[in-house]
Amino acid sequence: MKALVKVKPGKGFTLMDMPEPVIERPNEVIIKVKYASICGTDVHIYQWDEWSEKRIKPPRIIGHELCGEVVEAGKEVKSVKIGDIVSAETHIVCGDCYQCKIGNMHICDNVKILGVDIDGVFAEYVKIPALNAWKVSSNIPIEVVSLFEPFGNAVHSTLIDEIVGKDVAVFGCGPIGLMSIGVAKVSGAKRVFAVEVSDYRLDFAKMMGADFLINPLEEDPVELILDKTDGHGVDVFLEMSGNPKAIIQGIKATKKGGRVSLLGIPKDKVVFEDFAEDIVFKYLKIYGINGRLMFKTWYQANALLESGKVNLKPLITHKFKLEEYDKAMQLLINKKAIKILFEINP
Ligand code: ZN
Repeated sequence: MKALVKVKPGKGFTLMDMPEPVIERPNEVIIKVKYASICGTDVHIYQWDEWSEKRIKPPRIIGHELCGEVVEAGKEVKSVKIGDIVSAETHIVCGDCYQCKIGNMHICDNVKILGVDIDGVFAEYVKIPALNAWKVSSNIPIEVVSLFEPFGNAVHSTLIDEIVGKDVAVFGCGPIGLMSIGVAKVSGAKRVFAVEVSDYRLDFAKMMGADFLINPLEEDPVELILDKTDGHGVDVFLEMSGNPKAIIQGIKATKKGGRVSLLGIPKDKVVFEDFAEDIVFKYLKIYGINGRLMFKTWYQANALLESGKVNLKPLITHKFKLEEYDKAMQLLINKKAIKILFEINP
């Protein structure tokens, strides 16, 4: 089968023939990939940054955001059947560790990530445990099914604590930030402040329902947010940028007793000038977000898409064949795309 592979350490991918996966355990399913979308993680692996060098053991088929059809199921599989359209939870968990046993599968001590630690979805077929195959409702547009996984991150970050009637600031309007704006708005947030350096992305933030668009290269987001909230700051800060400066600004723009969801991953150190004043005395409630609750978040995400309350279609800015991977990666590197779909067996 055709697959996009990191063949050896270094930059780039190779499109090549790879053996089709075969069922080895009774709880596995084979999925024929219809669409797969590109995540920032795939771009990091393409560019071969420090993280990729430590984590990826080539050869590895890349990709984890999946929309596909179940074509084969192991003999113990009951949750899905041949012909079902599924997306995939990308955390492959052990089921035996302390975290799995106390109901925190999403932070399993032995987690393996699809397309990172095991072969992924930028291929004609992929094998996953049936537990990880999420059967989607039939009225969800098929193009957005591969977006379930990043959308789950947005849902988890936004809904981990109260949102109704809250002022919300989203720092960083990449795909997950943009999705969070949509989730916050339909979940009863009072107003959403979108903070983003790219005007291209701010246009999408507006489309997702943001009330205030702030480009921090042009205006001071902390001053502006404090001004619009009578000097108190927002109730909820969703950190989706991974930029150390944005993290500090976001916390300064958060109200005393406010809530912070941290999803962005900083490459550099985050240094607080006054940790006590900024965080401790402000009585902030800070959540680190890792993945999606398995599977509460998936039910919430499914409901939001099924009801049509959140529309992810406008976020798909490009569709490409696997052969066009270099072009797709360059668009993402240059921030000229929001979400790119590979059409594999559409
Ligand atoms: Zn585990």
